[in-house]
Amino acid sequence: MFDCGEGTTRQLIICNNVSPRNLRHIFITHLHSDHYFGVPNMLYFLSSQDCDFDKTIHLYGPLGIKKYIRNALGSTHNSQKMMANLIIKELVGPRTSKEHVQSYMKHLPRKLPFENSKDNIKDLIYRDESMSCYNVTTIGNNVIQAAEIDHLRAFCVGYVIKEEDRRGAINAELLQSKYNLKPGKEYGLLKSGQDIVLDDANKTIIRSSEVCEPTVEGKKLVILGDTSNPYNISGIARNCDMLVHESTFEDEMKDECISRGHSTPTMAARFARDVNAKKLIITHFSNRYKDTQKLLGQARRTFNNTEAANDFDLFDV
Ligand SMILES: [Zn+2]
Ligand SMILES: [Zn+2]
Repeated sequence: MFDCGEGTTRQLIICNNVSPRNLRHIFITHLHSDHYFGVPNMLYFLSSQDCDFDKTIHLYGPLGIKKYIRNALGSTHNSQKMMANLIIKELVGPRTSKEHVQSYMKHLPRKLPFENSKDNIKDLIYRDESMSCYNVTTIGNNVIQAAEIDHLRAFCVGYVIKEEDRRGAINAELLQSKYNLKPGKEYGLLKSGQDIVLDDANKTIIRSSEVCEPTVEGKKLVILGDTSNPYNISGIARNCDMLVHESTFEDEMKDECISRGHSTPTMAARFARDVNAKKLIITHFSNRYKDTQKLLGQARRTFNNTEAANDFDLFDV
C-alpha cells in the first residue's frame, strides 16, 4: 500500500477487488495529513483481521512516522490486543542533520508492545549518495527504491517498484541433441548470458542466444507523492511501465498549483513523456472537480496513454 489517508481503511473494507488479509507493507510518501493519518487505524484493522501471530507488517516512511504511530497507538488501551508484529523503518531526508536524527531517536516515545523495531541505525534508511536514491527494501522478486521529489518544504518521495528480470528458459533438448552437452555448470553460464567454448577438437562455440529464450524484462511501477517537480526521480523511473502522478489542479491554475507544491495534468504528462513511461495514471484531484474528464483531456493532449484514477479502479501494469 502506498500512502494511507484517513478514509483508506473504510475504502479497503468496502472494496471488493482487494483483500486486506495479504497486506504486509505500507509505504508513506510524505507527512502531510492526507497521506498518513489513516495508518494507525489501518494497523489496528489489519492486526484484528486474523489471529496470525506470525504476521509482520512493515511500515516505511519519512523520519517522524514512528513517533506519530507510537503516540497514536501508545495511548490507546486496546493496543495490547494487537496481534501482528510491526516494524517501522524511516527514510532520512538528505538535508536532515545528524544532531536532529540523534535527538529524534533519543526522544522517541516508548516502543509499542507488538513492535519489533530496533530503535537504532538499522531502522533508518539513508540515501545511497552514489545513486542519489534510497534502497528501501526487497519484497519477493521486487526491489523497492525511492527518491526525493519537490513538494514545498516537506521531505517527500516517489517510490519505484522494479520486478527482477527473468532469464529465458534454456533449451536442454537442443544442447543434448546438437552438442551432446549434459546439464552442468555450462548450463548455468549459458543461462547467465555467456557464450561457452566446448572442449572438443573443433573448439565449438555455443552462443547463449542460440540456446536460451530471451530475457523477460521485469515490470516497473512508479508511484509519486505530491510534487511540483519530480525530475530528481527520473534516473530510476525511466522506461517505467506505469507512472502514477498527481494532477491536483487544471492547467489554467498552473501558477497557483505550483505555489502549493502540486502539478497540473500537462506537467504530469510531460514528465511521463520525458521518462518514457508506457502509461500514466493521474490522481490526487482537488475536490473542486466533480469528475475528472477535463483533467484527463488536458493530460492526454501531451501523453495519450493516460487514465484518471477514480476510487476502486484497477489497472494492469
Ligand atoms: Zn502533500
Ligand atoms: Zn496530498
